[in-house]
Amino acid sequence: MLVGMSGLSTKLVRMVNRARHLLFPPACLFCQTALDDHDGCCPACLHEIRIWPACTCLRCGTILPEAIAPGPCGHCLHHPPAQQQTHSLYQYHGPVREAILNWKLAGKAAGARWLVDVAEPSVQQLISPHDLLLPVPAPLARMRVSGQHHAANLCAWLAAATGARMEWRLLRRIGEQPRQSSLSGLARRTNLRKAFALCDDYQPLVQSLSPDTRVWIVDDIFTTGSSVHYAARAAIKAGRPVHVLTLARTQHRSPTQG
Ligand SMILES: [Zn+2]
Ligand SMILES: [Zn+2]
Repeated sequence: MLVGMSGLSTKLVRMVNRARHLLFPPACLFCQTALDDHDGCCPACLHEIRIWPACTCLRCGTILPEAIAPGPCGHCLHHPPAQQQTHSLYQYHGPVREAILNWKLAGKAAGARWLVDVAEPSVQQLISPHDLLLPVPAPLARMRVSGQHHAANLCAWLAAATGARMEWRLLRRIGEQPRQSSLSGLARRTNLRKAFALCDDYQPLVQSLSPDTRVWIVDDIFTTGSSVHYAARAAIKAGRPVHVLTLARTQHRSPTQG
């Protein structure tokens, strides 16, 4: 009887898999080209995905010639950002850009999630299980519209990959600011100067951390660096080294940060 049931369940699984392939054929998560096996990335999109280079200024993450990496770059000698290190996984380009736009504007997270999954070995080299991940807080008005806190979702994926702890409420946004993408570099910095703070009761949590804990400010896109700089400046109050990790980064130069 058990053997018969086992045979039946195998048949059922095969039928369900066949139906799934007919109704939802496997496709590239970035361009929707049909794939033979399972959802993933087609060869053409894979060719277009660009990793953020390893030769960078460690402090601000700007790409540097191999001979002078890891910096500090000339900019950081005079105006270093608040964080000790800045890392990004991908260049904001091609399929990576499409995946992030799909995630942020259409709520389709599969492409972004795939990008984090394939970067897992690099992420595990950066983040230790002792570390604390803090998403850059999203403005309430934007969360009400999208129903999503993308940096917090990204933190949750990174925490699952590394065993690190995430606290999405520790770093708070104060007040409502105009959308960053509508502002120039100078206006972005003015807009964000007092936008972030640790919550009032952060001390018990900080005291419970291991002495080796580093704090990671996590965001989806690094554009001018203003958001992560001011978020890091607020997080320094926790008394731990503060680093930054973003899923992707544009090629723009970091602004003067003070
Ligand atoms: Zn594709
Ligand atoms: Zn630098």
